[in-house]
Amino acid sequence: MRDVLICGRCGGRVKPKVRSVRKDGTVPRQYVCYWAGTSKKDLIASGRKKKCSLPFIETKPIESRVWAQFMMGFVFSPTIILENLYNSKKQKNKMNQLQETINRLELELNKKNRARKNLYKLLEEEDTNIGELKDRLRINNDEILTLKGNLNDTQSEYQELVSISENEKDISNFLRNNKNLLGKVRKDVFNLNLKDRKLLIESSLMDKVIVNYQEDNEIDGPGGPTCEFKLNTNIELLQRFMEEGKITNLDKNSRDLRPRPDFGTLEIRIMDTQPTVGEAIAIAAFSQSLIEYLKLYSEEAEGKLLRPLPLWIEQENRFRACQHGLDAMYVEDESGNSRPIRDIAEDILNSTKETADNLGVSQELAGIAEILSNGPSYIRQRNVYGETGSYKAVVSCIAGELESEIKEFNLVQVGM
Ligand SMILES: [Zn+2]
Repeated sequence: MRDVLICGRCGGRVKPKVRSVRKDGTVPRQYVCYWAGTSKKDLIASGRKKKCSLPFIETKPIESRVWAQFMMGFVFSPTIILENLYNSKKQKNKMNQLQETINRLELELNKKNRARKNLYKLLEEEDTNIGELKDRLRINNDEILTLKGNLNDTQSEYQELVSISENEKDISNFLRNNKNLLGKVRKDVFNLNLKDRKLLIESSLMDKVIVNYQEDNEIDGPGGPTCEFKLNTNIELLQRFMEEGKITNLDKNSRDLRPRPDFGTLEIRIMDTQPTVGEAIAIAAFSQSLIEYLKLYSEEAEGKLLRPLPLWIEQENRFRACQHGLDAMYVEDESGNSRPIRDIAEDILNSTKETADNLGVSQELAGIAEILSNGPSYIRQRNVYGETGSYKAVVSCIAGELESEIKEFNLVQVGM
């Protein structure tokens, strides 16, 4: 720490100083109060009578104490720190502001409506100037329309923030239920390099660190360096570290299925590599229909679709699918009974047809049946290699498929 230390005895700045090399080869780093190490001339010029009495202090105990306390925040209040990481207090302030605006607009609108009623009452009076009344009614009408428009805009802006903050609730629930993630973030912070640590600590200090030295005394026993400080984790910096990949990020968890509570979506690792847009869309329609189906009929689906299996069997199935693709045999139960994965895919396809219809993606879903019968890209690629023995031919086949698709749908001009 360099610019954050203050002397507890004289209030002067405390700076690290590298002392001369010790006999054992180590270089002691010590904190020194500016007014303890200064020259007599400077001392006199500053109007000080004598040097500061703060002794030189080893940097290590001070630094480890601040770091330990910082990490303690992660141990004892991790959810608070992490929730702040994923949402912003600013949003709540903005919501309060919008609510106030809505209240004010509603009051004004009521006032204008009352004025309108009063203007109509004037119609009944005999000595009313009708022309003037009409003008006033028109102005009143304009004002009401403007207010209603503003009110509408403000309300929809408010609603948008409400849905965002509900999303944030999901995130904090997610964090509460994912203690592993908390531990991982803590570990990542702990393992930050020295420079990042320093940055994090210095920017998390609410004020300067007051350094002092407690002399030996009869009550407290042997003395030593002391320091006082207050910490408030610098969330923005942690966020930056996340973006830089130094700290575990929700985005960076690589799994086959990855919940994105911040978007309310479930991300699915790409299956095979689809060279054509049509196939990519078919896979997307398949995933979407399956998830929607499970959402709607989760109870009925049990037994109809796949049964949840112990993790080790799921892992075996995953391994089989990776190794054998569409020719894999899928283990269906604990006794090891298995069925071709093609049949399973067909079952799922048939079960989700209605849901796909409701989602308006049946046409896209039909692409799956085509992939099942004609084979996915990896099979086509193997066939081309089998026939030609040339990787170049494989690549140009893949490129050709996309190219002809683009030409067929006239998506973009292909210039090669
Ligand atoms: Zn001092």
